[in-house]
Amino acid sequence: MAIREIITLGHPTLRQKARKVTKFGPELQQLVDDMIETMRTAPGVGLAAPQVNVAERVIVVELPADEEENTPAELYTFVNPEIVKASRDKEEDLEGCLSIPGYLGDVERHVEVIIRGQDVHGKPQRIKAYDYLARILQHEIDHLDGVLFIDRVSDPSKIRPITAEETAGATGEVAEAVALMPK
Ligand code: ZN
Repeated sequence: MAIREIITLGHPTLRQKARKVTKFGPELQQLVDDMIETMRTAPGVGLAAPQVNVAERVIVVELPADEEENTPAELYTFVNPEIVKASRDKEEDLEGCLSIPGYLGDVERHVEVIIRGQDVHGKPQRIKAYDYLARILQHEIDHLDGVLFIDRVSDPSKIRPITAEETAGATGEVAEAVALMPK
């Protein structure tokens, strides 16, 4: 595994529509392994292949373990993911992005989504996701179409620099959003 460089706003790959993956093999496995290591090192809760300058439809998401709830970390890898169903219900919450370091914004997302795609071996998989996981999946799938969270805010005043306090480790929703940002 290797840590790859995360490209930032202004890099053209972030704005490209990523290609569908048709070849499943060692190269794809390597990309996924590298993306997981890169996401964990950042640290972040999600990463899309275009963020490591690979314009292919691959995302990884990891929900951190919750010690209070005694739940382990949950890792998801999706190749060619698609949103097949989205709830009418939407919710606005803070988001950050490893490719837009230092900024947060309030973004409206579907509360519940059904995602269909493949795993790293090409096997079909499908999940129903709620709340925070649904939010991260929508954020990462947007990356595959060249869409960033700053395009989704209802007005630009909702984008703001991250505060020192938040960086130092705030709690709750903000901390979760901060988990998307580099330290
Ligand atoms: Zn992002």
